[in-house]
Amino acid sequence: MSDFHFKNGNKIIKRDLKVLWHPCTQMKDHEKIPLIPIKSGKGVFIKDFDDNNYIDAISSWWVNLFGHSNQYINKKIKQQIDSLEHVLLAGFTHMPAIELSERLIKKSPKEIKKCFFTDNGSSSIDAAMKMSFHFWKNQGYKKKSKFIALSNSYHGETLGSLSVSNIDLYKKTYEKLMKQTIIVDSPDCYNKNTSHSDEKHTSLMFDKMLSSIEKNHKNVCAVIIEPLVQCAGYMRMYHPVYLKLLREACDKYKIHLITDEIAVGFGRTGTMFAYQQSNITPDIICLSKGITGGYMTLSTILTTDEIYNAFYDEYTKLNAFLHSHSYTANPIACAAANASLDIFENSNIIQKNKSTSRYIYNKIKKFWNHPNIGDVRQHGMISAIEMVKDKSKKIPYDWKERRGIRCYEYGLKNGVLLRPLGNVIYFMPPYIINRKQIDKVIEVISGAINIATK
Ligand SMILES: *Cc1c(COP(=O)(O)O)cnc(C)c1O
Repeated sequence: MSDFHFKNGNKIIKRDLKVLWHPCTQMKDHEKIPLIPIKSGKGVFIKDFDDNNYIDAISSWWVNLFGHSNQYINKKIKQQIDSLEHVLLAGFTHMPAIELSERLIKKSPKEIKKCFFTDNGSSSIDAAMKMSFHFWKNQGYKKKSKFIALSNSYHGETLGSLSVSNIDLYKKTYEKLMKQTIIVDSPDCYNKNTSHSDEKHTSLMFDKMLSSIEKNHKNVCAVIIEPLVQCAGYMRMYHPVYLKLLREACDKYKIHLITDEIAVGFGRTGTMFAYQQSNITPDIICLSKGITGGYMTLSTILTTDEIYNAFYDEYTKLNAFLHSHSYTANPIACAAANASLDIFENSNIIQKNKSTSRYIYNKIKKFWNHPNIGDVRQHGMISAIEMVKDKSKKIPYDWKERRGIRCYEYGLKNGVLLRPLGNVIYFMPPYIINRKQIDKVIEVISGAINIATK
């Protein structure tokens, strides 16, 4: 991005590159693509050291819900720091964790009764895997040790969570370190037979899941799944009917259903939690990302008394669930999470998002007419536009051409942070984005598509 000049930022970039190794980055890319040092954030904007503003159209990796430096969340965090910054959660407790657990359980189906805190998304998946395995072990099912996951799934990048993921980019190199997972074809609707509805396609795809469950159930602890949208998996989407069918099969064959709501939870798909659109109760629900409104790391597992009670025993039986993190349920993080729930409740966010998401779809549907756009899709506040080399056959561009990076660069030059996943441009803004800002993002996406498909 040679025509991107920072004045004040340059010194900071140099200091950074001397000492920092960034996530999800080939560091050599920064010889050409500048790192963007950010000085501050306010609302949907982040501001660099040269006072350029960028609309954060991806909620800073899907975490931010109510804007950067939100006044109300700031206030609640400051109050919390002044009374208790942290205390261990083993043998001790505190009000922010109790209050948050009560509120999350109240928002869940009646069978969900317990909240187990972990540290980040990946660690909640690892803990959920251990919890499911250990439940079956405590119940005397000695053979159950495997997991079923979908193709193109993403559940995190620690060894456990990467094991149940299925995106080569993140996994292939580390395959030898992985636990074996049973992978079933994803029901995503991108490549469906166009004469089928999404519901029909998704239901038909369930046959593959069902036969895998029938074949493997004796050895399987749980099916772990991202409800409705495979976010890191290029924002591919499927119909809620899948989770309904999956719930029935899991019940019939004694398998847990673990829903990974880390990205889709807290309103992203239009309901507070995505699984609610299928009217089911998962056995284990993993939450993170938006849980603190995008302020800091925190995650939790919600589960049933049936699972909890399988660990409740005399100490000497050694049936307790042994999983702990030093900062489990940090009070400041819990205070941010409680503040974020206050905003949901006091400002009618889920209802307001309905009209925001309709407004966004009405704007992006025009991209269907573009000769190099193969799909325009949306689930609530997640919208995605897929660039293709050949529209009629849906032939993708070669990944080596890195067309997404062109969109990223064009976006930055024009004041919008877009960060395409491969050839997929997505829009997942903080909920406080206004119409004018949406219009600006759409305009920049339009320009980015034209540059990237040239
Ligand atoms: C981000 C993500 C994770 C991992 O969470 P981290 O906090 O990054 O470890 C797991 N599952 C899904 C669906 C995610 O989007």
